[in-house]
Amino acid sequence: MDICTFIDSLNCLTDLHLHLDGSVSVASARRLAEIENVSLPDDDDELKDLLMVSEDCADLNEYLERFSLPVSLMQSEESLKTAAEDLCNTLSDKGLMYAEIRFAPQKHCGKGLTQKEVVKAVLEGIKASGFDAGLILCCMRDGADNRAENLETVRLSSEFKNNGVCACDLAGAEALFPNENYIYVFEEAKRLGVRLTVHSGEALGADSVRIALENGADRIGHGVRSEEEEAVVGLLREMDIPLEICPTSNINTCVVKSISELPVKKFMEQGIRVTVNTDNMSVSSTDIKNELKKTVKAFGFGVPELKTLLVNSVTASFANDTLKEKCLKKIEDEFKRSVF
Ligand SMILES: [Zn+2]
Repeated sequence: MDICTFIDSLNCLTDLHLHLDGSVSVASARRLAEIENVSLPDDDDELKDLLMVSEDCADLNEYLERFSLPVSLMQSEESLKTAAEDLCNTLSDKGLMYAEIRFAPQKHCGKGLTQKEVVKAVLEGIKASGFDAGLILCCMRDGADNRAENLETVRLSSEFKNNGVCACDLAGAEALFPNENYIYVFEEAKRLGVRLTVHSGEALGADSVRIALENGADRIGHGVRSEEEEAVVGLLREMDIPLEICPTSNINTCVVKSISELPVKKFMEQGIRVTVNTDNMSVSSTDIKNELKKTVKAFGFGVPELKTLLVNSVTASFANDTLKEKCLKKIEDEFKRSVF
């Protein structure tokens, strides 16, 4: 069996960096449009084009524009619940045993819902699916004067901490609105004991990662540009902060031209806990098996490196210890059964 066939056969996969609004399938978009009474193109290919980036996507800012349609389709409790349930069912079908799904509640209050109602609806959808998923609530950096909304998001992350929400995130256009403008998010998360992952070192360089680390980030979303500064790589290793690397997304946003340019192998050899994730299944037109296959091919990885990546995803997750143990055992079982 070659390694790609082996990856296809696995059911012990984890995705730690997965946006709900960037992972709406064509079928799900149609269901949501009916609920929201929004008209969509009849042709599936045309609809798919609205949900995904083109090959020549210019940068992160253009990439982020692809979120406007899916966000508009999730403005009621019913559509939010449906979107979350649909995504969890898809993940289960694609061989995942656990995922951390993230989204920004404040983007779903356009028709009068409160952030709390939005969060509750998404949690209901996850619960209805029966799939093991933790929810990460994103604060946004997007130019709006949304300090109060971001603080409410951190507060809700704390309120639902033991009821489905596992962490808080800072997402949006990193280059336009850098981490140093959002220190209050870091401080509030620390004050409330909320775990925090931060999009950093994607559109901006190593300094952005350093600021996130110095202010208490527990994980880094992307972080690939940490390699630009040896001291930041050293900090990641010393603090044992995992990276959520999303290969195809980094190509879409022109961080690198090919996956082999990403510091995946280099960071693993340096003892940094690297995980591989999708970021956005519909916007980047991908899934976790595709990301893993592209990664092992780009770096010539065999079974040991693949296993390390999968184990890293479990140990780096915000899941409780019981669930982590269950997931680690599943990886052991599936790798034992494999004969090469
Ligand atoms: Zn992301």
